[in-house]
Amino acid sequence: MREKPIRVAVIGAGVVGASISRVLSMFEDFEVILVEKEADVGWGVSKANTGIIHAGYDDEPELYPLRARLCVEGNRIWRKWAEDLDIPIKWCGSLVLAFDDDEANILKELFRRGLKNGVEGLEIVGAGEVKVLEPNASENVTAALWAPTAGQISPWDAVIALVENSVANGVKLHLSTEVRGVRVKGGCVTGLETSRGFLEADWVINASGLYADKIAETAGIGGYRIKPRRGEYFVFDREAEPKVTRILFPTPTPISKGVVVTTTVEGNLMIGPSAEDLAEYQRDEKGNTRSGLDYVWSSASKLVKKLPPRSMIIRFFAGLRPEPTGGDFIVRKYDEVHGFIDAAGMRSPGLTSAPAVAYMVLDLLRSDLGRELKRKEDWNPYRKRILRFFELTHSERSALISREPRYGRIVCVDEMVTEMEVVEAIRRGATTIDGVKFRTRACMGKCQGSSCMYKIAVILSRELGIPLWKVSVKGSGTEIGIGDVKALFEEEGECERSKETS
Ligand SMILES: Cc1cc2nc3c(=O)[nH]c(=O)nc-3n(C[C@H](O)[C@H](O)[C@H](O)COP(=O)(O)OP(=O)(O)OC[C@H]3O[C@@H](n4cnc5c(N)ncnc54)[C@H](O)[C@@H]3O)c2cc1C
Repeated sequence: MREKPIRVAVIGAGVVGASISRVLSMFEDFEVILVEKEADVGWGVSKANTGIIHAGYDDEPELYPLRARLCVEGNRIWRKWAEDLDIPIKWCGSLVLAFDDDEANILKELFRRGLKNGVEGLEIVGAGEVKVLEPNASENVTAALWAPTAGQISPWDAVIALVENSVANGVKLHLSTEVRGVRVKGGCVTGLETSRGFLEADWVINASGLYADKIAETAGIGGYRIKPRRGEYFVFDREAEPKVTRILFPTPTPISKGVVVTTTVEGNLMIGPSAEDLAEYQRDEKGNTRSGLDYVWSSASKLVKKLPPRSMIIRFFAGLRPEPTGGDFIVRKYDEVHGFIDAAGMRSPGLTSAPAVAYMVLDLLRSDLGRELKRKEDWNPYRKRILRFFELTHSERSALISREPRYGRIVCVDEMVTEMEVVEAIRRGATTIDGVKFRTRACMGKCQGSSCMYKIAVILSRELGIPLWKVSVKGSGTEIGIGDVKALFEEEGECERSKETS
């Protein structure tokens, strides 16, 4: 008879926690819960980044061994995972552009590192070849490092897909559940203290992004800190031209890979990020700054012949990198506390590395158990994303509308999102306007939601059976009812008013 399943609690439904959940869900040995403080998955660092699946030439293996190794491994794994999970991705390759001899020497160094890390297909190319690979690259480029294995992914789609597939394979998802501490008894983990009570666990995997050091401290693990490093971006309208077909990097700085010019998988030109170190207490500081955005614009302008006009910008945003002490990822277990594993300090290239981090966590668990794990015979590797009306031909659209009229009602005109797609997003777990947005792209077009947000709110209200004012943008505290209007509709308020009028 097999032993009782081992209860594993993964803290954080970002790309790292979601990847770990998926990998652990492959085995009968584990009973996995995924615990997330937000009302939905992927709303931490994983939703605001450049979305690049890096090739893996950036990191010196002697200095940052985990970053160097896991990036290349992650890049390879994403090829299969993105296909199995129907995640939007394009393998467009990247170019690091050099503008003088000093920068050309940096290319040689990156090339050498890439070879050490096992990156395939790297090549240093001259100005003529750059023109062919990227017609919009600046005329002043003298040489470039061409990395054909780099790709561009939709980072929030990736997390949603990983979580949907994990849940389909038995993982229990606890949303809106904040972990307040890890309980340890006699040197062993016993579970999690959360905002919704105690959750028992034999193992805790700490994948809590910007808060990983705080969570580790509650388990009695010290020794590292996480500091936020802000990166700001501009996103252009899908129709803005000219775009780029490759990911364009400058030569890197000591703290960042530099401001990138890229076209997202959805077809929007995007430029960024800046790199600004913030204080530890600024872990929620996601506002944009004039200086950061100016820096992004001037840096990006140097890489290309032309950027679209500023009037075509539809959005700017900022993300925070969780920079760990020492700079390398922290993926390890501890002798002093049995049952605690860190998957922390996942700064860039953490999105690329996440699947490889997940397999590393699996190995840590396996080595502790000291036995072979049993694969689930019915484990399902596949998941399909929500059908996109926008991507269909005219005849496919007509056929669909005649089967389901809700495909004929457009909710978001800019992104051509239909009522049925919104309903499907809600069926798959969206409970907020942002939840619908990240699953369907509604509100991501030119108007940024000003014309479709209300329509989505009405559908959410109807499908979830809640009053309209209780529909929220991103969970508790962000309900769309405003100020006194909201107070009027609160239950007590309603009683008071009915007393007054009776
Ligand atoms: C500007 C920028 C650009 C980047 N570009 C790239 C790139 O192009 N390519 C690349 O490979 N990497 C990139 N990265 C890095 C990549 O985004 C991160 O490594 C990755 O998203 C980290 O994922 P995570 O799951 O560790 O963290 P997160 O996505 O933050 O997930 C952690 C989760 O834990 C939850 N949480 C926190 N505390 C608690 C608690 N107490 N209880 C319950 N839940 C909790 C959070 O809400 C969050 O959802 C970039 C990062 C930034 C900021």
